[in-house]
Amino acid sequence: MRIYNFSAGPATLPLSVLERAAREMTEYGNAGMSIMEMSHRAQPYEGIHNDVISLLRELLYVPSNYKILLLQGGASQQFAMIPMNLSKNGKAQFVITGEWSGRAYKEAARVLDASVLASSEEINFSAIPEIPVEKISPDADYVHICTNNTICGTRFREIPDTGKIPLVGDMSSGILSEIVDVSKYGLIYAGAQKNIGPAGLTVVIIRDDLVENGNTDLPAFLQYRTHAGANSLYNTPPTYAIYMTKLCLEWLKEQGGVENMQKINEAKAQILYEFLDESLIFRGIADNSHRSLMNVPFTTGDEAKDKQFVKEAAAAGFANLSGHRLVGGLRASIYNAMPTEGVEALVEFMKKFQ
Ligand SMILES: *Cc1c(COP(=O)(O)O)cnc(C)c1O
Repeated sequence: MRIYNFSAGPATLPLSVLERAAREMTEYGNAGMSIMEMSHRAQPYEGIHNDVISLLRELLYVPSNYKILLLQGGASQQFAMIPMNLSKNGKAQFVITGEWSGRAYKEAARVLDASVLASSEEINFSAIPEIPVEKISPDADYVHICTNNTICGTRFREIPDTGKIPLVGDMSSGILSEIVDVSKYGLIYAGAQKNIGPAGLTVVIIRDDLVENGNTDLPAFLQYRTHAGANSLYNTPPTYAIYMTKLCLEWLKEQGGVENMQKINEAKAQILYEFLDESLIFRGIADNSHRSLMNVPFTTGDEAKDKQFVKEAAAAGFANLSGHRLVGGLRASIYNAMPTEGVEALVEFMKKFQ
């Protein structure tokens, strides 16, 4: 029996996608073999690969002067690849809004002069800080933000205007959950395992000039131009993860695309936040003004009671409600694939527990 899975990632996937993948597991179409067993340089795989790129372009309204790359190594590899490729003046600025943006900053600091433009560490990352755009250095190679903070449950409602300086966004846990204006960014990246598809694929959306002007004194594999020039087929891509991603993107399109998914996500998150705001024992952790639509950290304020909740919830069919190991407490990740009924059922259970 499938249960409601509130994991932060790898995360729940649409049941219809899993069922279709199961039907196609041993033989894809009339190919006589599974997707996993065929060459990445032959049809039908190449068709799937190109469909994923065009579905991402369509669903995210990616302008034609951006490349969509299907890479590996997770968002964590991008923490390193971005400074390696984009460093010209050897300088980048970071908005620190939690663990992941902190890691992006530390990794970049190995490669260039990384500085903190703004941080909400003082308030335990419970909100997005004011961003002093006047402090953006005119010779910074880029400004980095994490648009949705998976662990502390905050999200940017407005993005800073960085002018001519490329804005880089880690969208690992927020991509495809709400409409974004891609043209405001120089580069967007996301590990697939939160809100795109299964683990193993990393999506990078990068403006053409950043590909063209990227550093050439890097190993070929670590240059964006290598992958951009080869349609992300320079070497063997994670073919099965890309196939699964195609099914997930088709599912999202059937739901009415990102516009409609955003409406569903807003209403879905509201159900949980409304309950948390009124609850006698639970409270949300993130500041009201910057609450995430995807990751909802909360707590009873009592460690033992939090643990008891996780245990009883698991027994009742609600899995993975522990907070991140770094911060403790509780967290419900409610990505696109989590149905509204899942959140309604969770709230009913929380009322009973209360
Ligand atoms: C999960 C996550 C990461 C790390 O992703 P990996 O693919 O495991 O490297 C980075 N940034 C954010 C915002 C995340 O949620």
